[in-house]
Amino acid sequence: MKYIRYQDKNGAISFGVDEGAGFRRISGNFLEPYQVTGPEISLSDVRLLAPVTPSKVVAIGLNYRDHAQEMGLKLPEEPLLFLKPSSSVIGPGDDIIYPAMSQQVDYEAEMGVVIGKPAEDVGLIHAADYIFGYTCLNDVTARDLQAKDKQWTRAKSFDTFCPLGPWVVSGLDPADLDIQCLLNGQVKQSSNTRHLLFNVAELVSFISKVMTLQPGDVIATGTTSGVGPMTPGDEVEVRIAGIGSLVNRIVR
Ligand code: MG
Repeated sequence: MKYIRYQDKNGAISFGVDEGAGFRRISGNFLEPYQVTGPEISLSDVRLLAPVTPSKVVAIGLNYRDHAQEMGLKLPEEPLLFLKPSSSVIGPGDDIIYPAMSQQVDYEAEMGVVIGKPAEDVGLIHAADYIFGYTCLNDVTARDLQAKDKQWTRAKSFDTFCPLGPWVVSGLDPADLDIQCLLNGQVKQSSNTRHLLFNVAELVSFISKVMTLQPGDVIATGTTSGVGPMTPGDEVEVRIAGIGSLVNRIVR
């Protein structure tokens, strides 16, 4: 099933579900029990928003071997965690604002894992029970500032640096999905989630032993090789098989 959050022409924000026959409005947030209430939604009549409003986005550094190699860094022995603030989240079609502080802003195509219920100290075998679904995510990074600072908060946290969407897909096996990043229609990154060093269950379990994950929180599972810069005017797309396509434009 696919789940959206959207704004209609009157400015009202609602949630919708596609159970196989088109999107319909639901009574509340899809992360809670809901009823289907509305007629079919035409996606051309609404503005899709980031499908969830996470309290935090927990991101994983160096979770693909080839990306660690291109960065000249050793593979981590445990998941390498950092945070992206909720203020960095934008939706499909929203603009990524190029910050004045940076001279190099990179794309990073990643699979996002959406948490469905509070997850605290979760064992590996139960981790899947806490996952609601999956979405596309762009871990936009000010690469020059990442190199300059000792930790990555500034480089990863500018407003608009976490595009999410276009929807959340549930009932999907995340272990073997093709993932790509396209810049102005040209493929820049191409891999498959089977190359994740730490898989989705391992990440949920590990993170939940550090901090409680809340419903709607998102894990950015890491990026593959081929990261590179974007410039104002560019259109960037994260495409994941079985999930969808997340497109954003870079503006100054
Ligand atoms: Mg990343």
